Amino acid sequence: MANTFQVGDLKVSLVVESEFPVLTPNEVYPDATQEDIDKNEAWLAPRFYDRISDKLILSFQGFLIRSDGKNILVDTCVGDCKDRRRPSFDQKKWSWLDQLIAAGCEPEQVDIVVCTHFHVDHVGWNTQRVDGTWQPTFPNARYLFVKKEWDYWRSGEGAHNITRTGDYMQDSILPIVEAGLADFVDMDHRIDPDVSLKPAPGHTPGMVCVDLQSNGSQAIITGDLLHTVLQVIYPDWSTRFCADPVLSRHTRKAFLERYANTDVMILPAHFPRPTAGYIERDSHGFRYRFVDEKKS
Ligand SMILES: [Zn+2]
Repeated sequence: MANTFQVGDLKVSLVVESEFPVLTPNEVYPDATQEDIDKNEAWLAPRFYDRISDKLILSFQGFLIRSDGKNILVDTCVGDCKDRRRPSFDQKKWSWLDQLIAAGCEPEQVDIVVCTHFHVDHVGWNTQRVDGTWQPTFPNARYLFVKKEWDYWRSGEGAHNITRTGDYMQDSILPIVEAGLADFVDMDHRIDPDVSLKPAPGHTPGMVCVDLQSNGSQAIITGDLLHTVLQVIYPDWSTRFCADPVLSRHTRKAFLERYANTDVMILPAHFPRPTAGYIERDSHGFRYRFVDEKKS
């Protein structure tokens, strides 16, 4: 299955940490009813939904962008050996760095790290445990942290919300700042002529998409603007993990409106492989067409 996509002169590779049934539909979406799932089960299972456990299948992955000789890594998954409250994330040992190396990039060769937002499954490999301390995994990289996101998670509300998962600020963000590798940036920061951040607030206050444009082609890494294909069909469904579900819904609907029926490739963080696809309009609203599906 294709894990690398060409976007003009840019190359984007999926760097997958895991893909498994994670949560029930209602644990993710408070608005999802059993009737909704029953209605969609024929196409949801088994690719996106595990009937036995009643859980949605999510991928956890980062994206390696090769742009003008630079290696830009977007999102660093859950990470290894971290104390986490959710058993499926706690003290894991995945071979994610091997996946990165297989994609053609040693950790020392990463030039820029971007975290679309500061949630547990997007910051983990920022650091790794060395002799009992958390050290930057990518010692030669600048880590771009969105200032607004940093401010939120340092605030009382952010500190409260972090208790849901385990204190990843302590083991995955602060060690980077202390090592002097963090650059605090605006939500519309431009990384290079082809790669820039775009604001996508709601899921978290400072969440960003990463916009890639080269030689007339465009792709967008969407962070957690969409968690599953269901949210393309039901754009009103925000998740229980959205800091501002109303703004999250607004941002998602505006995004779908803007990119429907265009040839802009979408790269959502949690869609199972091949992950990449396009937004299409249909008689009910929107649908997602993976790159390996025919146009309808
Ligand atoms: Zn996520």
